Amino acid sequence: MMIESILVVILGLVLGSFLNVVIHRLPLEESIVHPGSRCPTCKASIRWFHNLPVLGYLVLRGKCAGCRTKISPRYPLVELLTAFLFWGSYLGLPLDGIQVVNQLRIWIFISIGIAVTFIDLDHRIIPHTLSFGGWGVGLLTCFADYRHGPGELVAASVAGFGFFFLFGLLYEKLTGRVGLGGGDVNFMGTIGVFLGFGGIWSAILISSITGSLVGLLMAAWSKRRGEGDGGEDGVLRTQIPYGPFLVFGALVELFFGVSAWIGL
Ligand SMILES: [Zn+2]
Repeated sequence: MMIESILVVILGLVLGSFLNVVIHRLPLEESIVHPGSRCPTCKASIRWFHNLPVLGYLVLRGKCAGCRTKISPRYPLVELLTAFLFWGSYLGLPLDGIQVVNQLRIWIFISIGIAVTFIDLDHRIIPHTLSFGGWGVGLLTCFADYRHGPGELVAASVAGFGFFFLFGLLYEKLTGRVGLGGGDVNFMGTIGVFLGFGGIWSAILISSITGSLVGLLMAAWSKRRGEGDGGEDGVLRTQIPYGPFLVFGALVELFFGVSAWIGL
């Protein structure tokens, strides 16, 4: 339905705008509701019509109305990304009966995933509010997931968390280095409670493949520019946040159900 699609896109844009606030303030432990939006440079309050998702950025041509400081294009990009993913998930799951709750649940997972991605990129952390908070919401709404059912979701959540926890422990014992951050381990539990075992398998498989590829490319790139952060043992290791890759794997599973293709 045309009207419904438009409303879903608007909801995604508005939620994306809120996610920008979460991404900016949550790691700084600031309130996400108060004060209202301000320019991070000159602290001027942003007027409501300049704060409209995407449109505000276009009207201001990417600069603060007060001090003309450049506004990161990431703000409208996060809004567009959220709207696009909301709309994509709506296409696969029309709003109908109990599926409304299921769709809300998926939109919450998408929102958490976007916040995790950009906070991890900026700060190399996944806040507990997102992993454990998300886990709580996932648990409370798991009755609405008619594809998996509460039993599988809880089991997958425990298994994902447990597997990453043990893997991280083993890696640290063998290499003496921290391989997986605690945030990544917690977030696996969140993926499990929303997407079941398929989500766990896909997140592990896809994140390890894409993460290694990007890691290798970045290592090669920084070596070429002569700024590799080689350790004392001379081995080149580039620190990349792992959360975005886990989110990517989970979203690929959510939209394409890859775990079913490969018989998992
Ligand atoms: Zn300003």
